Amino acid sequence: MKILEERIRQEGLVLPGNVLKVNQFLNHQIDPDLMLDIGKEFVKLFGEQKITKILTVESSGIAPAIMTGLLLHVPVLFARKQKSSTMPNELYSAKVYSYTKKIENTITVESKFLPASDHVLIIDDFLANGEAVNGLLKICQQANAQVVGVGIAIEKSFQAGAKRITDQGIHLESLAKIASFADNQVHFVGENYNG
Ligand code: 5GP
Repeated sequence: MKILEERIRQEGLVLPGNVLKVNQFLNHQIDPDLMLDIGKEFVKLFGEQKITKILTVESSGIAPAIMTGLLLHVPVLFARKQKSSTMPNELYSAKVYSYTKKIENTITVESKFLPASDHVLIIDDFLANGEAVNGLLKICQQANAQVVGVGIAIEKSFQAGAKRITDQGIHLESLAKIASFADNQVHFVGENYNG
């Protein structure tokens, strides 16, 4: 997705540990027009299939997820990282090791919002080692819900996540694919780089 790649190039900051900071439009301040364009792209890629729910994890997955849900007119469910006191005991949960925070979270979803009849499109902001998406897949398994596919805004293709998901036979689509952060620059998959 050209416009997303351009924004990453212009505004992204490569931090130590292969972390890309995009706080100008995705992870802190959010650009709603760009999020809407991302939603439209996911609809192009997955919209032919039956989708009854969008599933993501708080907090940075919510913006692209909600735009996709808006365009498809389906509810958007986000897994929580901390158990809320307002949530009852009927939960689906999975342990997720956070790439950026280096801590393990238990993500949870209230079971009544994910019936077995659901056809789920999983959306997230970044794909690194696939921990977050794998946790969401485990939650869908617990619910016996069908996973239609996984849509990612920014995939770091040099990390293990993409293979981990596609090896399970799951349809993965990523809108910007990063091949490397060599020389502290963002290099996208498919572009020529001789560094
Ligand atoms: P994974 O679970 O695939 O290892 O990592 C994905 C999750 O970690 C995403 O939900 C995202 O919040 C966070 N993450 C991973 N890599 C990056 C990165 O380079 N930049 C930012 N901002 N978040 C990242």
